[in-house]
Amino acid sequence: MNIHEYQAKDLFRRFKVNTSEGKVFENENDAEEYAKSLGVDEFVVKAQIHAGGRGKAGGVKLVKTPEEVRDTVKQMLGMTLVTHQTGPEGKLVNKVYVEKSSTIKKEYYLSLVTDRSTEKNVIIASPEGGVDIEKVAEETPEKLLTQPIDPVVGIQPFHIRKISYFLGLDKEQTKQLSSIISGLYNLYTEMDCALVEVNPLIATNEGEIRALDAKINFDDNAEFRHKEYPELHDPTEEEPLELEAKEWGFSFVKLDGNIGCLVNGAGLAMATMDIIKYHGAEPANFLDVGGGASVEQVTQAFKMILSDDNVKAILVNIFGGIMKCDTIAEGIITAAKEVGIEVPLVVRLEGTNVELGKKMLDDSDLNITTATTMKEAASTVVSLI
Ligand code: GDP
Ligand code: MG
Repeated sequence: MNIHEYQAKDLFRRFKVNTSEGKVFENENDAEEYAKSLGVDEFVVKAQIHAGGRGKAGGVKLVKTPEEVRDTVKQMLGMTLVTHQTGPEGKLVNKVYVEKSSTIKKEYYLSLVTDRSTEKNVIIASPEGGVDIEKVAEETPEKLLTQPIDPVVGIQPFHIRKISYFLGLDKEQTKQLSSIISGLYNLYTEMDCALVEVNPLIATNEGEIRALDAKINFDDNAEFRHKEYPELHDPTEEEPLELEAKEWGFSFVKLDGNIGCLVNGAGLAMATMDIIKYHGAEPANFLDVGGGASVEQVTQAFKMILSDDNVKAILVNIFGGIMKCDTIAEGIITAAKEVGIEVPLVVRLEGTNVELGKKMLDDSDLNITTATTMKEAASTVVSLI
């Protein structure tokens, strides 16, 4: 789960990570009042969306007066910002963050992320931070330092020295870096993050080290122990269908293809998408209805798949383990009748009572094609579009 920059910066303050003074707004009047109260001669106005690359896309503006803050906030609110991370449809700006501007002597990159291969959290640092970090990683990977942190002993002084030397910081700045890294590490572990990224981390002209941008991604598996996650969640940033799916207990991801998939189990869903691609077509979604889907859930799943106009055929691929195949067949028939499926429907069942399930589908007067193997199911559905 992603959160906004302003929320991430609130957490930075709580964990004593140095960042600029700022506040989030949903209207230009309050923003102007706040800018006046800051009493500085430069402000940064930043569109709050769950995507980076705002700077290059016009979502980060430096302005000189509270009146300009007002005008900029007004202009950003309600605009659709298209950055290299949003996709061509862009993201609607509902909130704007205003903060005191910083002088920038140098921009660095600093992040914490979980590295599954070493089973550790790692710190990634670079002296070449700012808006082109992807390019640095691709073209000059030697400018990135990756420092694994042993979870038992945590951050050690030598980690800080190594990172500071790599970044080229002086003694005073190293002290500041130490407190920033400790704060970020505590935040990362206590809040069960999957990513904490500061890009850029800056040195100001006055020699201060400060987090200028903030990105946090929480590990969804830890939601049960963080009451705060739902409070920080912004549903307007998510695909509406994916939100609806969550309420029904499905794992659902909308994709760009035209074959709707209704599958139980994440592994089988992945394999189904693969085999559709192998046969030369593209899936319209990833949908895992779970191990023991009810008739209501199957009906709902069909409704969601059919709400996508791109869907030209549906492939149901279900393994009857906990649930028997005849129960699944009944669910499919009920759902198909209720929803009225007009696109070709291919069903492949496997597992307990598979013969009975298939017979029920064949005997129904619905336009359903049954298949025995995944290969047959995939090639059939692809030929039907
Ligand atoms: P992103 O483009 O979405 O990652 O947004 P950032 O918050 O990283 O801002 C993009 C760029 O705007 C930064 O790399 C800086 O160069 C610039 N910027 C942001 N805040 C300030 C500031 O307080 N002062 C100055 N001078 N530049 C800033
Ligand atoms: Mg940034």
